[in-house]
Amino acid sequence: MKQCPKCGANCADSDTFCGICGTPLPISRQYPPRSSDGLAVASMVLGIIGVVFSLVFIGIVPAILAIIFGLIVLCSARRRQNGCGMAIAGLVTGGFALLIAALVSLFFISVVSSMVSSWTDNYDNAPGFSQSDDSHLTA
Ligand SMILES: [Zn+2]
Repeated sequence: MKQCPKCGANCADSDTFCGICGTPLPISRQYPPRSSDGLAVASMVLGIIGVVFSLVFIGIVPAILAIIFGLIVLCSARRRQNGCGMAIAGLVTGGFALLIAALVSLFFISVVSSMVSSWTDNYDNAPGFSQSDDSHLTA
């Protein structure tokens, strides 16, 4: 059973139009289980996980898996439109995750290098400061 999105009437899964108001019904969301679909879903999910975890470096692992699964689905099951869409989503999110991970790495490296340089600057200045303070106090 599926519901008409417009009037909410119950329609049979095989119906393409609502029997009450004639609105075109969405294609049933229950896809028959296929291994290529499973891989495509895995690819998409891993891609999303990769985007989320790309903010920390381990996101690179699911992102690479998402791209590999997506490529497997695209190469092996071109006839399955739904699987292809999810595999492309997996490839896009996986690639996006890798991009974010690369940007985060660059940002992290620049922050660390600026922290190190400012720390060494302070370290260089600190003895001069304390010496002048000491001489002022003792004088
Ligand atoms: Zn309807």
